[in-house]
Parts: sequence; C-alpha cells; structure tokens
Amino acid sequence: MDLKGKTVIVTGSSRGIGEAIAEAYAKRGANIVLNARKPIAEEKVAHLESYGVTVKTLLGDVSDFETAKEIVSQAKELFGSVDVLVNNAGITRDKLIMRMDEEDFDATYQVNLKGTFNMIRHALPLMLKQRAGSIINISSVVGETGNTGQANYAASKAGIIGLTKSVAREAATRGITCNAIAPGFIETEMTDVLSEKIQEQMLTQIPLKRFGKAEEVANTAVFLSENSYITGQTISVNGGMYM
Ligand code: NAD
Repeated sequence: MDLKGKTVIVTGSSRGIGEAIAEAYAKRGANIVLNARKPIAEEKVAHLESYGVTVKTLLGDVSDFETAKEIVSQAKELFGSVDVLVNNAGITRDKLIMRMDEEDFDATYQVNLKGTFNMIRHALPLMLKQRAGSIINISSVVGETGNTGQANYAASKAGIIGLTKSVAREAATRGITCNAIAPGFIETEMTDVLSEKIQEQMLTQIPLKRFGKAEEVANTAVFLSENSYITGQTISVNGGMYM
C-alpha cells in the first residue's frame, strides 16, 4: 500500500513504541490518529504535523468495546477512511503465577488481547468495504517463548498471534493483510522499570548484544503495510533472542 494520504490509527501512541510507529507512518505522508488513555503532549502532535500530515488525538481505553467503536467511527468521520490499524496498546502486570491475582490476569488480557479484538472488530468492516487495509498487531517474543513472571502477558501476546492468523485468513479475499510483530527487549518506559540485574541477564540472551530501539519496530510496521503479499506472519524484531 502506498501510505501517502492514508489514515493510520495507532493505539497506545502517547509514548514508546506506539509514538515511534506514529512517526514512521507520518514520515511516509500518512495522516495519523493517535490514541492513549491519558492526554498526549501537544509538542508530540506538533512534531508529527511537521511532516506535513494531519494528526488527530482520540483518547480512550481500547479494552472497552464501545470506546473502540467510537475511536474507529470518529477516525472514519474525520478522514473518510481507515487504511491502517496498528494495535500497539499494551500493559504488563508481572508476577509469578503462584502470586498472580485474577485481576492481574484479567487486566492484561483485557487491554492486550481483547483491546486488539475490539479495534479489529470495528475497523475491519470499513476495510472490507474499501477492499484494502493493513492491520498490524504488536505481540511479543514472550508470546512465542513464555517467560517466568509473565504468564498473563505471554498468554495475551500468544493469543494475538492466533487472532492475527485467523483475521489474515478471513480478510485475505478482499486484499486486506493482517500481521503481527513480536518485539524482543525494546528500550522504552515499559522496560526502564526492570532492575539492572534483569536487564543484564536479558542482554546475555540477545545474540546482537544490545536492546532494540522503538524505531526498529516502527520501521517493521511500515514495511508490512507497504507489502501487500505478506499476511498472517509474525515478524520477530528481537536481536536474535528467539529464532
Ligand atoms: P509503554 O508502556 O511505553 O506504552 C504503552 C502505550 O499504551 C501508552 O501510550 C499507554 O497510554 C497505552 N495504553 C495502555 N493501556 C491502554 C488502553 N487500555 N487503551 C489505550 N491505550 C493504552 O509500552 P511500550 O514499551 O511502548 O510497548 C508498546 C507495545 O509493545 C505493547 O503492546 C507492549 O506489550 C509491546 N512490547 C514491548 C516490548 C518492549 O520491550 N518495550 C517488547 C515486546 C512487546
């Protein structure tokens, strides 16, 4: 897909990987719908607009079905189409399973997996009518490998891979692609909270011997949207951590 003038919704784009994804699409000339639960700094919006594109912020919790519907329908009203959906909003509630509360499991599932479903459920009918569209879901390397202390998160991210493949099969006849990206350890505020000891341990598992950058995930999303013959795939951006 040629991204110039297209409409791209990026959930959870107030910071980190989502912010970098929004910028990568803006650089290609796409108009951007930013989303997060809390207000997004005006400088960030202005920075994206400096690429000569239109940027709108639609705040709201993607884990709520009706809110997701509202985000998609407002995006369509503002821009006339929804061409790319990047489901990036995600949370962690790390604990060993023996100490994990029901709430830790439910909250992670609700945002990461249900939120992704909610947005696809509302955006896909528009894409089917357009006979074009690109859906990118942000999974994680731990959805492929599992991880101690992340049973809830890993389950939600593995679920995203199954969801991605199913949507890819259902939407393919109308020229719509759906892919997942499984980042490894990417330097963001989500990973800054991990102790130095854990960060050092992680480095020993990464053949490329460094953490990834948000831009490296963002460029992969753009690549997938631009390639109309790749669908149902999970692309690892993990420095070789899992092959
Ligand atoms: P982050 O915590 O820095 O940013 C998360 C964003 O999601 C924020 O903008 C937040 O406001 C938003 N968000 C959270 N819950 C939301 C909700 N219910 N509705 C709408 N927005 C919501 O995280 P990040 O490190 O930038 O990660 C982005 C995505 O990449 C997540 O899905 C995460 O699981 C995934 N990921 C990150 C890493 C990493 O190493 N950082 C690795 C693998 C996967």
